Amino acid sequence: DAARDAMSRLVVDVPDYPQPGVVFKDITPLLSDHAGFAAVIGALGDAGRDGSGAVVVDKVVGMEARGFILAAPVALALGIGFVPVRKAGKLPRPTHAVSYSLEYGDATLEVHQDAIAPGERVLLIDDVLATGGTVAATRELVEACGGTCVGVAVLMELSFLPGRTAVGDLPVSAITTV
Ligand code: IMP
Repeated sequence: DAARDAMSRLVVDVPDYPQPGVVFKDITPLLSDHAGFAAVIGALGDAGRDGSGAVVVDKVVGMEARGFILAAPVALALGIGFVPVRKAGKLPRPTHAVSYSLEYGDATLEVHQDAIAPGERVLLIDDVLATGGTVAATRELVEACGGTCVGVAVLMELSFLPGRTAVGDLPVSAITTV
């Protein structure tokens, strides 16, 4: 299909970035191609629709930083609001915060406490599902606001990492699995 085809043509593997042994998936060529970008935004948005095409979520959450680029146009396409989940210290008003471990050290993510209303249904969007730590922490933030995560949609799932296991029972939609 169009989204998968755009990804295979326009996502570039960069060996040994940001460190030796890592193959970084560079999505910037995909973003700069209008047809390719439109195709993946449409495909990600399908995770927020039911079989008849009706929108079944209330908010789209994007994780800093590449998640912002994808989640904002998905929210506009679905006709609902966008919520940023940011790294510690960037949001100006009262937040919920969750810390989680990375391969080296810790990270903290935050969301504004009033960004998601109790009972709202939320779709998470990011570029890559790797270990699943980012998605699991973001889900905790949504739940701290009283919202419910109904799924996570990503461009790429790295199947050699336990991302799907780490996110538990949250449904994962991935355009490609590598
Ligand atoms: P996780 O928390 O280990 O699942 O990592 C997911 C986060 O790391 C996402 O926010 C991605 O943007 C980023 N990430 C991990 N691997 C890659 C990669 O190969 N390319 C681009 N981003 C990556």
